[in-house]
Amino acid sequence: MAIREILQIGHPRLASRASEVDVEMIKSIEVQSWIDDMVDTMRAANGAGIAANQIGIPHRIFVIEVGNNPRYPYKPKIPLTVAINPTISALSDKTFVSNEGCLSVPQMRGNVDRHVEIEVSYFDRNANKINEVIRGYSACTWQHEYDHLDGVLFPHRVEDKESFCSWHVFEEFRQADYANEVEALVAQWGA
Ligand code: ZN
Repeated sequence: MAIREILQIGHPRLASRASEVDVEMIKSIEVQSWIDDMVDTMRAANGAGIAANQIGIPHRIFVIEVGNNPRYPYKPKIPLTVAINPTISALSDKTFVSNEGCLSVPQMRGNVDRHVEIEVSYFDRNANKINEVIRGYSACTWQHEYDHLDGVLFPHRVEDKESFCSWHVFEEFRQADYANEVEALVAQWGA
């Protein structure tokens, strides 16, 4: 287990589509150690999630976990989830304007439209196939991490260029209003 370097925006491995994990290999020491490193690196950086290619592993795995996160104090909690070869599909056209940051995009946040009802399918770290419906704010987190596997970072999806701001400016001027918007979303969808 190790805390790994997090690749930064512009790195070619972040911009490439990650490849599927051979399901037969999920329980291998190699894949399990990748997952351990992802969890350690995410937690050390106070991230809400991290994708394998953010630490240089070009395969379709991400991990998500939200506890009492000082980086995202308004986020509803999500238990540690490991998603291997995930697929995501929208269940409706309902969207939320999600203000996002990323461990690979230092000092920058911006608004991205995300679906709030999605169906996901993935293998967990024990190679069990999982199908779930994810609603509310947690669905935004899933879509952010999934985008990484296709080489997409949140700034690529920001249409409202005025929404770009530093973390410091966000906390000073925008976080209070945004926390209210997230609270209303969570109240509606339960997550
Ligand atoms: Zn990210």
